[in-house]
Amino acid sequence: MDRVASIIESALDRRPLIVVSALGDTTDVLVAVLESLEAGSTDDARGRAEAIGAHHREVIDAVVAPGTHRVDARAAIDSSLERLGRLIEGMDCLGEVSPRSRDAVLSLGELMAAPLLAAALGSRGLPARAVDPREVIVTDEASEAASPEITACIERCRERVRPILDAGRVPVIGGYVGATREGVTTTLGRGGSDLTASLVARALGAESLEYWKDVDGILTADPRVVPEARPVASLSFQEAAELAFLGAKVLHPASIQPAVDAGVPVRVRNSHRVESPGTLITSKLHGGRADGPGQAVVSIACKRDQMLVNLYSTRMLGASGFLRRVFGVFEALDLSVDHIATSEVNVSVTLGETERIEDLTTRLGEVADVRVLGGMGVVSVVGDRISETPGVAARLFGALEDINVHLITYGGSGVNLSFVVAGGQVSDAVRRLHGALFEETGGA
Ligand code: ASP
Ligand code: MG
Repeated sequence: MDRVASIIESALDRRPLIVVSALGDTTDVLVAVLESLEAGSTDDARGRAEAIGAHHREVIDAVVAPGTHRVDARAAIDSSLERLGRLIEGMDCLGEVSPRSRDAVLSLGELMAAPLLAAALGSRGLPARAVDPREVIVTDEASEAASPEITACIERCRERVRPILDAGRVPVIGGYVGATREGVTTTLGRGGSDLTASLVARALGAESLEYWKDVDGILTADPRVVPEARPVASLSFQEAAELAFLGAKVLHPASIQPAVDAGVPVRVRNSHRVESPGTLITSKLHGGRADGPGQAVVSIACKRDQMLVNLYSTRMLGASGFLRRVFGVFEALDLSVDHIATSEVNVSVTLGETERIEDLTTRLGEVADVRVLGGMGVVSVVGDRISETPGVAARLFGALEDINVHLITYGGSGVNLSFVVAGGQVSDAVRRLHGALFEETGGA
């Protein structure tokens, strides 16, 4: 909280608006409350609710000085806790955990965090004001996965949030939570605070959007695999989206899309290291990076627990409709395919490991000879200038010299080059690629 307050304070002249997520693991504990109720253990649910209350009161005492701000924060938290108590008793009484009750419970973390942060800022002399997200984020009814109605959100932001900014105060909005037009509380899906921030940034035409996380932005590789990984200074939205799809732990592309679409530059920063500039994500394809194999790639991602499905059919020779039959099988089983490579008589695809493997093999067996390799991994290098930069492929293949590569795909978007390798060789492949791309030349 202290760190957060000083970050906000140093941004005061830029007229900041804050979107805050639940404290620590509060949302996970609320999920556990619902699980207890579903299992019929109402006492466990009560105990967990109690723990959430105790934690929030403790935080208030630690970060809000005694006085009116502390009184306000206590009142706001107590009213949410009382609501949680009533919801628990209601569900216990009905013996049912309905979708609507789930959203009502899950929303409470953010509904408590906003007044708490506003009070903490207030007691430090910063003019803050908590805003109930249910007055601002208008959504459809989908429980735990509500979609915001952008036009309505923009209108509400202008009506309810803009005046607070104009009065020189800092609005603090709980993320992740919204409401239908009828006022029913909804939630946007786990991690949804990122989407709230992006919507609000777009609605108010923000000059920039900063996500304060606990890592130095987006890194050149997963630091658990490559300790030498370092932050990427800037990348395009397309690169960020591709990285997320290929297994990197970056912001969900759908979350930042509203801001990027509106041309708001997005920055990912580290709240533990404010001096680090973090990573800038912009809508444009990037320019400005020097040409050269080490600069064309922004980051390396990997996915484990993948399957490689190889299909052979001599009937495919000159025949039409083969691919339709193959993909018809995946569609029928509701399985989505990640990478595809084809030759005259062969199609290879990768997908995440699935329990429906037997079904899949049987059905594919009706259209082709099938060979499935499980326990595979996909290692991808991402950069939207790979295709324009000579020498990248040579550098990559050189690095993977002694690794058995089962399949190579060069994404249709031209943004990623992916290699399928045995699961046990994923880390090694990532380290070698990182060494060749980022450690020899001084890199991106
Ligand atoms: N508190 C919610 C969650 O943990 C939303 C968020 O953190 O963005 O999923
Ligand atoms: Mg959270």
